[in-house]
Amino acid sequence: MTINRRGFLTGSAVTAGGLALFGPATEPVEAGCGLPHHPGAYELPPLPYDYDALEPYIDKQTMTIHHGKHHAGYTKGLNAALGALEQARASGDYADIQKLERKLAFHLGGYVNHSVFWKNMSPDGGGDPSGTLAKALKQEFGSVDAFRAHFSAAAAKVEGNGWGVLAFNPYLQRLLVLTLMNQQDLIAVGAVPLLMLDVWEHAYYIKYQNRRGDYIKAWWNVVNWKDVAERYEKAMGIRV
Ligand code: MN
Repeated sequence: MTINRRGFLTGSAVTAGGLALFGPATEPVEAGCGLPHHPGAYELPPLPYDYDALEPYIDKQTMTIHHGKHHAGYTKGLNAALGALEQARASGDYADIQKLERKLAFHLGGYVNHSVFWKNMSPDGGGDPSGTLAKALKQEFGSVDAFRAHFSAAAAKVEGNGWGVLAFNPYLQRLLVLTLMNQQDLIAVGAVPLLMLDVWEHAYYIKYQNRRGDYIKAWWNVVNWKDVAERYEKAMGIRV
């Protein structure tokens, strides 16, 4: 992965669990800056709207716990994993390296996935995409409705905890619907997430209980297509 057409790396251009992550979690940094060189630098990104803003589709209690507890926990875990890895390098003791790399992938996945997810939603969301993104979805999937059906089915069938993902693969130069188990498994290197749907039970169980399909159907009403389209524009500029 290199830089996009605007000359910036967006967010953290790193790979976790095979997922190349170009998330919005941090402000764009100049190419070459990469990650900060000290641990503990990452903070929980604020929600771009109030906890009750996505009602009635996603309830306030779920959003409060999801952002304030779950995402906060992954942020803490990411910083802890980076810190532990720095210590391992300093001491030369790699006895726990398997565990630490796993921890890094899991918490980095949780940190970035949720950072994308919050911005993928808006109280003014829903409807259909337009412009270049709409054209690309039609070209790749046949129609926007066919894309929605594919994405919904894939997300509904994730076994246990996971995510539905619309990604751009710069190697193939195409859009793909992918699924992610947990936060980090199953996606090959190279996917740039554009639209992510959290289907962990913590994302919907208070309101929807076991009815994941109802949650997915309701979620389309808050999809922020403008954000998805902006991510697509940036992703298309990646040259690999
Ligand atoms: Mn979640």
